[in-house]
Amino acid sequence: MSTLASRALPVRTGAVGVEPRLLTVDERESVDDYLAGGGYRPLRNPERLLEQVAAAGVRGRGGAAFPIARKMVTVRSGSSAPVLVANGEEGEPASVKDKWLLRFRPHLVLDGLRLAAAMTGAQQAYMYVSDPVSADSVEQALTEFPAEGWNEIDIAVHRVAPTYVAGEETAAVRSIGGGPALPQDKPPRPFEVGVHGRPTQISNVETLAHLPVVQRLGADGYRAAGTADSSGTFLMTLTGVEHPQLLEVPFGISLREILVAVGHSGDLRGALMGGYFAGLLSGRVLDLPLDHGTIAGAGSGLGCGAVAVLDAGTCPVGVAAGVLSYFARENAGQCGSCFNGTAAMAAVLDALCTGEATGADVQRLQRWSTVLRGRGACGTLDGATNIAATVLREFPAEIEEHLESRCSSCPPPAVRRRPPYAVLTEGGA
Ligand code: SF4
Repeated sequence: MSTLASRALPVRTGAVGVEPRLLTVDERESVDDYLAGGGYRPLRNPERLLEQVAAAGVRGRGGAAFPIARKMVTVRSGSSAPVLVANGEEGEPASVKDKWLLRFRPHLVLDGLRLAAAMTGAQQAYMYVSDPVSADSVEQALTEFPAEGWNEIDIAVHRVAPTYVAGEETAAVRSIGGGPALPQDKPPRPFEVGVHGRPTQISNVETLAHLPVVQRLGADGYRAAGTADSSGTFLMTLTGVEHPQLLEVPFGISLREILVAVGHSGDLRGALMGGYFAGLLSGRVLDLPLDHGTIAGAGSGLGCGAVAVLDAGTCPVGVAAGVLSYFARENAGQCGSCFNGTAAMAAVLDALCTGEATGADVQRLQRWSTVLRGRGACGTLDGATNIAATVLREFPAEIEEHLESRCSSCPPPAVRRRPPYAVLTEGGA
């Protein structure tokens, strides 16, 4: 068992533009502190809370941003007793928000799990997690849990080896069922046929952590932060700045406001959005309201909320090459289109970096970035195509420079791949 003393993550924490709702502690919260802060409130009327969650417009914080109330209604109306999975397997190397929540606020997450179980009627739940410190933290919290309704839920901590694909929901279903933590084809989707063949709600742990907030604030209070499209706050892992930051921010804030607040100055060339998944945006990202609709409209996404800033001296082609080589390495090798496609796209970006690519290579990259979309069993191939498509769309001048073996920000003779923006954590995560 890893020591709970080593809970620290190499990030600074804080809130920008909002009173924090989730990032309210500096060290691991005890059950007594959680109770003293109003946690584990009695739930007399799950139906009423479900209405409040729907009215609050809570969306999933794992990447897909699906409305959680709709998911709960679907799961509880399935043909057999539902199962609940709290997904804390944060495979995104550029994100630490879920690890932080599980290490520092396990009771908040468990409170959300309890409320979700009451609203869906689930009596069996799993905490699905790879970070050993997070797993230990949750196991300790489970021994402390005092709230009513606890005895009606059977909760198990399911540990899994960390990989990029292990957090995908069908991989979670397979792993909990005793198989490999690898994605499988859909349909059926887990809400139809999931763990043990039962309808299964899989929710990111940050999503669950917002449920006690809705219970405390009500729908209107919850909507006091955020936008009509994306309500409330979200946790942003911000990298590419001097110190990696874990921030709680309201949806709708701009990246410029955030960077000013954390004291980051200098020109911004663009940003890598949604961890490694949602591609690159040019400097226009600075003043966009950060909500799901706006960022999707700009051709990218917020995903898990991680944003990596590219400063003026960072070449986006090098960043794209680094991330694509990660996908080529980390894909699960199950689908030919992904296994071959990620390798091929990574090879073109590598060749651009070394000044060896041709215009025909770039045309091939352009074609692959559209025809390969949606062809994998999980979202990994889509993440790779997002990187390829956006670097071509957002940074045409830099692509051109690389075709001509010159780049205004890369050292001669050519360019090096930039290391992906991983936040290295203790405890093997
Ligand atoms: S799309 Fe890629 S990562 Fe996903 S299952 Fe297929 S091969 Fe594995």
